[in-house]
Amino acid sequence: MLFQSSPEPAWVELSRSLAEARGPGAGIINRQSIGGGSINSAFRTDTREGVSYFVKLNREALLPMFEAEAEGLQELRKANAIRVPEPVLAGAGQGYAWIVTEFITFGRGSAQSQETFGRQFAEMHRQAADRFGWHRDNTIGSTPQINQWDDHWISFYRDQRLRVQLDLAAANGFRGSLQEKGERLMVSLDRFFASYMPVPSLLHGDLWGGNQGVDDAGNPVIFDPAVYYGDREADLAMTGLFGGFSTAFYDAYNEVWPLDEGYQTRKTLYNLYHILNHANLFGGGYAMQAESMMDQLLAEC
Ligand code: ADP
Repeated sequence: MLFQSSPEPAWVELSRSLAEARGPGAGIINRQSIGGGSINSAFRTDTREGVSYFVKLNREALLPMFEAEAEGLQELRKANAIRVPEPVLAGAGQGYAWIVTEFITFGRGSAQSQETFGRQFAEMHRQAADRFGWHRDNTIGSTPQINQWDDHWISFYRDQRLRVQLDLAAANGFRGSLQEKGERLMVSLDRFFASYMPVPSLLHGDLWGGNQGVDDAGNPVIFDPAVYYGDREADLAMTGLFGGFSTAFYDAYNEVWPLDEGYQTRKTLYNLYHILNHANLFGGGYAMQAESMMDQLLAEC
């Protein structure tokens, strides 16, 4: 894994800033690499006073990514709906940037924890803003995600989500029919919202199965967000993209806040953003998948 043997000076500085934030007992005495992340190097660190912290490391230039992640975790915590690790600090030095958060000991999920999660997720979505967007940009995977406030969801989703990924795709060499279909879809977006008016809900923004778990007391936990205020359906759609969420989760969600008609179609529209992002990050097959999603959507509008 990247950075497994990161130079000691970065760890010395990280340890010093942790001790500044949490007191002298929080100096790091031990660290252990954790797998599972897709972007950063992750570690469990132990401190002299016996408290563990979760640390992610990347290149120094990526400090804004970690600052946005720390703010996103804080925003989700404020909703007080689902357990979210407490951010401790984001910092940089000696060639590296880092985020330090509360360390969570994960346990095993159950049908009960999925049900609780579904309910809590709907409650989190009840947290609303008066416009779509957020007060700052962040990243989706390692791709920049812009979040300028917009009163209108359709223009927000078209200009700050689909268009950004399509422009990136063009720059990455995905031109021709992908671009042509993308353009056609963007001018037809209104049709997916003929009888549906989304509200600006607090979204996790990147909730695939790998960004959730259950703690050792059975409480659902979400982490690694790409927070903004948007249509709750966008968050739900992504949970279906790579698995990890059971029927109990969706049933409980629907009980608290039933989904609106037309969700099944808009689900594809919302996942198109993530599949385009995957095409931009990982290439090839995802561009084909994005194009077939566009075909499906163009046939339905
Ligand atoms: P990346 O930003 O590289 O995708 P993640 O934030 O998804 O990294 O974290 C990588 C892995 O670390 C996760 O899959 C999870 O198993 C574990 N993890 C994430 N947050 C915590 C935490 N607060 N405490 C303990 N382990 C965590």
